[in-house]
Amino acid sequence: MHKGFTISEVVEGIKSGKLSCYELVSEYLKKIKEDKNSEYPINAFITVNEDEAIKSAKRIDENRSSLSGKLLGVPIAVKDNINVEGLPTTCGSRILEKFISVEDATVIEKLKKQGGIVIGKTNMDEFAMGSSNETSYYGVVRNPYDRSRVPGGSSGGSAASVAGDFCVASLGSDTGGSIRQPSAFCGVVGLKPTYGFVSRYGLVAFGSSLDQIGPITKNVKDASILLEIISGYDPKDSTSVKFNITDLSERLEEKIDLSNIVVGLPEEYFTDNIQKDILESINTVIKILESKGVKVKNISLPMTKYAIPTYYIVAPAEASSNLSRFDGIRYGLREEAKSLKEVYYNTKTVGFGKEVKRRIMLGNYVLSAGYYDAYYLKALKVRTLIKNDFKKAFSEVDFIITPTTPTTAFKIGEKVSNPIEMYLSDIFTVTVNLVGTCAISIPVGKDRNNLPIGMQIIGKPFEDLELLKFAHCIESLIS
Ligand code: GLN
Repeated sequence: MHKGFTISEVVEGIKSGKLSCYELVSEYLKKIKEDKNSEYPINAFITVNEDEAIKSAKRIDENRSSLSGKLLGVPIAVKDNINVEGLPTTCGSRILEKFISVEDATVIEKLKKQGGIVIGKTNMDEFAMGSSNETSYYGVVRNPYDRSRVPGGSSGGSAASVAGDFCVASLGSDTGGSIRQPSAFCGVVGLKPTYGFVSRYGLVAFGSSLDQIGPITKNVKDASILLEIISGYDPKDSTSVKFNITDLSERLEEKIDLSNIVVGLPEEYFTDNIQKDILESINTVIKILESKGVKVKNISLPMTKYAIPTYYIVAPAEASSNLSRFDGIRYGLREEAKSLKEVYYNTKTVGFGKEVKRRIMLGNYVLSAGYYDAYYLKALKVRTLIKNDFKKAFSEVDFIITPTTPTTAFKIGEKVSNPIEMYLSDIFTVTVNLVGTCAISIPVGKDRNNLPIGMQIIGKPFEDLELLKFAHCIESLIS
């Protein structure tokens, strides 16, 4: 899978004239079309930016000697909850089917400034709620490794588009694991940056205190290039932090002294419920690290058992507030009605899918006057305790290693009727969002069905560069 070009290969190829951007873009567009017409399509895209992508590619080929940019001519797929001017932003929902973005998200502005080409908008779970990409109004996404299986979610289209080589790299969003979990299922690299490091301006909000945009790529180097470009302070996002890492992607190559590194293995993340071959693959990596001098320490993150319940109070609470703007008046769909109340009612009834409705109801319930203290406030307190767990752990270790997911990619239809079971697929990723720190999933092997296995490395807040350097080092040790 994903044998295609990496970012640096494309940029170097185009700059030297060895690679035609037009041919590259045309090849990807052809692949996307062929997939659409195939019997079991991967269905990674909701919108293909065909005309614009071809136009940009031709312009780049014609002017390549005078152009520069860290993404010059690189076709990038963008999750369909991130605004790209002139293209629909559907969020995988019927309610936004006809909504066209009037401006670029900050991350898109930055990509374009570096010469990146948006090849299309990727399929996703509706409003980024889900772990399997089965809740999209635009159909399920299939895993490129096995088309009877899910690609993970909610950035399933973004992960599948990279794994299936329909683009060079992609952007996803991660509220509780939606970059890392699909990256693990699709055998690609997925990075959730520290909260506040990447602007959320132009990302349709789900859980505002949890959401981060991040890269999904073929290797760690590409993730560092994209992070370098999309990160940085943005006055348009009030949660954006005045923090920058200069030359992030060049500094990736800095040598690290492995004998100075301590890795923590939290006992709560290595239990009997985890698929055997996932544990085996991760243990193999740990052994390699130990043989290179890394110190490994068993640690405990005891509050982890409350992470899923806490997340499923905080995230729906924020979602119910954020999604109230989709009312049939301001954006997208408007259903026939005789009164204002009916506009709301009819539009939301047909516009939202089942999972989104479930979350809105849950969110309104935990925020309602009678239950606010018992649920929402309590969840915020537990969130602080989870943060304290991590703070304590990070006073003893530099990184925490866990499986990204308890299983490899499951079958389409296997969990969709059981929301609780679906929610549990994020058990190892949600804590990171509740804490607000950075984490990456890298592929570390295959299971007995030849399905990819992901390993999660969690770093200290704003030590995204250190995290990438360590991940880069592991990647080279195991490849
Ligand atoms: N799967 C989780 C959920 O359904 C996380 C989603 C996400 O990170 N966007 O909420």
